[in-house]
Amino acid sequence: MNTLGIYIQIPFCASKCSFCNFSSQVARDEAIGRYCQALEQEIARYRQVVAAAGLGEEVLRLPVDTFYVGGGTPPVVGAARLKGIITKVHEQFVCGERCEFTLEVTPASADRDFLNGARELGANRLSIGAQSFNDQELRSVRRLHSAAETHETVACARHAGFSNIKLDLIAGLPCQTATSWQESLRAVEGLRPEHVSVYIFEVDEKSRLGSEVLRHGDRYHAGAVSDEAFMADAYESARSFLRGVGYRQYEISNFALPGFESRHNLKYWQLEPYVGLGAGAHSFDGERRWANEISPEIYFQKLMRGETPIAEVHRLGPDEQIEEFFFLGLRQLQGVHLSEARRRWGDSALGRWESVIGDLVQRGLLVRERDRVRLPDHAVLVSNEIFQEFLVTRMEAP
Ligand code: SF4
Repeated sequence: MNTLGIYIQIPFCASKCSFCNFSSQVARDEAIGRYCQALEQEIARYRQVVAAAGLGEEVLRLPVDTFYVGGGTPPVVGAARLKGIITKVHEQFVCGERCEFTLEVTPASADRDFLNGARELGANRLSIGAQSFNDQELRSVRRLHSAAETHETVACARHAGFSNIKLDLIAGLPCQTATSWQESLRAVEGLRPEHVSVYIFEVDEKSRLGSEVLRHGDRYHAGAVSDEAFMADAYESARSFLRGVGYRQYEISNFALPGFESRHNLKYWQLEPYVGLGAGAHSFDGERRWANEISPEIYFQKLMRGETPIAEVHRLGPDEQIEEFFFLGLRQLQGVHLSEARRRWGDSALGRWESVIGDLVQRGLLVRERDRVRLPDHAVLVSNEIFQEFLVTRMEAP
């Protein structure tokens, strides 16, 4: 039976990290309060919200088995507002007993009381944005915490009863060296979270640090950012380190102890339905993708006027669905089963992708084992280039 994931977006942070390319912002408490009020409205009126956008509500009847509150930094809204939002979700959706409920925090944004309260609200998985265990690196990107505070947050989370903790690391921060990176990995090993995510710093125009690196400036310690070769080595060394201490890599950026893979994120890669609530949140019902207005202020105004905050709806044709099946599914190191694609879209639908797969297999960029297709271990770092090959419909667009 199909189940549903729910994502709640809290787009606020206490300060803006220089490397951040998300749409989060620093806002006054009054604006945060208005946003939470709008979010509660959206949840309370969700059936009308989707109907106004021409969407059916079948998906809303599915039992919820994953619930993710992310951002941004959710604790900035405060415990009372968070409780109000989660209570509204329980009023509107059917959350199963075994629901995976993930809450994102930054070290030091969530103290002992907050974490105890989060457990009482049902949170059973904590995602902590550690990013590094080197204080110089943390200061260079304007993180508001030290490595010691990350240790303390993990200890408080364990004390509060979290038995499923995820830590994030970023390869390629300013001032990072091979030695400091190994120290961060060893600190992770010492804390033994159930899940580790390793990202490579994305040098793009969407962050202040990224755009400074691109223009060869030296603000935000851009001059201390290592080159691509260092980042690739750091990523590969993290893979072998984490595997060596018992973690299984199940997705390009994600490693878990057995049984602790993120059930919520697996929905994204396996094309399962989820509903996103809040400014800029995305939803998917198996055929259609829709997204809310991204500006928190406009999102608030629309809801206060009784309008839907949904800004765009896109129905995926069969070819687009198959493209997504491959370029999202292949992010998982186990790969995808062609029989699953045939079951969903019919035997004849895969023809054009069979030749793409054959070509990539011949070039050593994919492995085919009977029915299963996956990335070979050596090609994980160049996966983006491989995924481009699956965008058949976009290549054919005029
Ligand atoms: S705390 Fe996270 S979301 Fe907020 S600015 Fe830093 S990286 Fe971005």
